Amino acid sequence: MTVVKNICCIGAGYVGGPTCAVLAYKSPDIKVTIVDLSEARIAAWNSDNLPIYEPGLDEVVFACRGKNLFFSTDVDAAIQEADLIFVSVNTPTKKSGMGAGMAADLAYVESATRRIAEVAKSPKIVVEKSTVPCRTAQSMRTILEANSTSEIHFDILSNPEFLAEGTAIKDLLNPDRVLIGALQTESGIEAQNALVDVYTHWVPKERVITTNLWSSELSKLAANAMLAQRISSINALSAICEATGADVDEVAFACGKDTRLGSKFLKASVGFGGSCFQKDILNLVYLSTQLNLPEVAAYWQQVVIMNEYQKKRFVRNIISTLFNTITNKKIAVLGFAFKKDTGDTRESAAITLIKDFIQENARVAIYDPKVEAEQIYMDLSEPGVVDTQKQLEKNIQICQSAYEAADDADAVVIVTEWDEFRDDQLDYEKIYAGMKKPAFLFDGRLLVNAAKLRQIGFKVSVIGKNELA
Ligand code: NAD
Repeated sequence: MTVVKNICCIGAGYVGGPTCAVLAYKSPDIKVTIVDLSEARIAAWNSDNLPIYEPGLDEVVFACRGKNLFFSTDVDAAIQEADLIFVSVNTPTKKSGMGAGMAADLAYVESATRRIAEVAKSPKIVVEKSTVPCRTAQSMRTILEANSTSEIHFDILSNPEFLAEGTAIKDLLNPDRVLIGALQTESGIEAQNALVDVYTHWVPKERVITTNLWSSELSKLAANAMLAQRISSINALSAICEATGADVDEVAFACGKDTRLGSKFLKASVGFGGSCFQKDILNLVYLSTQLNLPEVAAYWQQVVIMNEYQKKRFVRNIISTLFNTITNKKIAVLGFAFKKDTGDTRESAAITLIKDFIQENARVAIYDPKVEAEQIYMDLSEPGVVDTQKQLEKNIQICQSAYEAADDADAVVIVTEWDEFRDDQLDYEKIYAGMKKPAFLFDGRLLVNAAKLRQIGFKVSVIGKNELA
């Protein structure tokens, strides 16, 4: 039976870093080396200031870094030492060429796989951790087998990651399930069992699911598509609520009490963001198109269309409420990350909203507790515009607090559900006092008690709620 003693993880990002740090934390007998091509990222992992913000991550990393957890740029050495290699590189949506805007760009997966094939000197279990289109393991196998010899045998597994940013450490320490797919051959199943053994150091055995390779790959896309679909469903209903006087919170509560539906992921919002949902649905749309299943493609595409519509609808409501113009008005945007408890801004709704505000000649003051100014400038810059920061500075101001952002503003817009923006944490009397009158507040996250803020004097508009109800 194969016993894993040395693990390498290629890709020290939002997934590779936390996942393998928890693995090292829970498996003191296994040496874990996380490698990346980015020297800056590895230097940050080796410093006191880790490159990503995730509650609980510091404690886990600091407990085992230098003992059985290492961060390095020496990819080849880590591959050579390891019995098992996670491939946890980015798989963004392709920007140009065929399949642009839909297909996943697998260039990083391919180059990591080629590197393994080229430098490995002993048998390896190669584990697909990145989210990939169904049957990617076949391409990886072809690359690896072209290099395999009688002494160097490669097994390939699919082990998609289900962590959610913001709760990654909690999710990894106590996962709902761990999914491991393998080819149903003798050696595939032995490799699968070796990885099951690693996880059962801390995950109850009944939560470790084993399947064939393709079910595992497709399950990850399916899970994300269904989660995003729930958000688009409640957001579609939020538009109906606003038009009829139904209250989206009450509708979600009533539906969520049905045990077949459950209450999670039924919170209406300004739209989902993040690096995964849109990318993974588009991936499914592309796969369906390739498989000549146009109706299936259209079905999943609608989840993304609904999400874009929800953002536009929110902006249109703000403009019309502010007397049909936001030219030269100051809009305070609270939150820039795609959700609370992360500094990740990939595909954040804030980016789309702020670009729309700028287009309408508004002045935008932005505050987020965990996102750096440099990141905000990068996300808002348009390709090909020289000296973007200077251009953007005409329209945006990056603030150090919600109070600074709201000072002299015409409207406050809650975009990220950070706890510090709740009405029991932020001093909304102070915010109101500093604003122009009438003072408008748009809650894109169902975060505040609108009645309480109306009493202060705010004109409040909340997603999925009609003031006249
Ligand atoms: P990321 O961009 O944060 O990290 C990927 C890292 O891989 C980068 O640091 C990059 O420099 C490195 N890299 C790329 N090619 C490399 C190579 N050949 N050798 C060494 N390093 C290389 O991405 P992420 O958010 O960690 O996502 C990784 C994968 O996990 C994606 O497929 C994503 O869809 C999936 N996923 C993400 C999440 C999430 O919440 N972010 C959750 C589950 C699954």
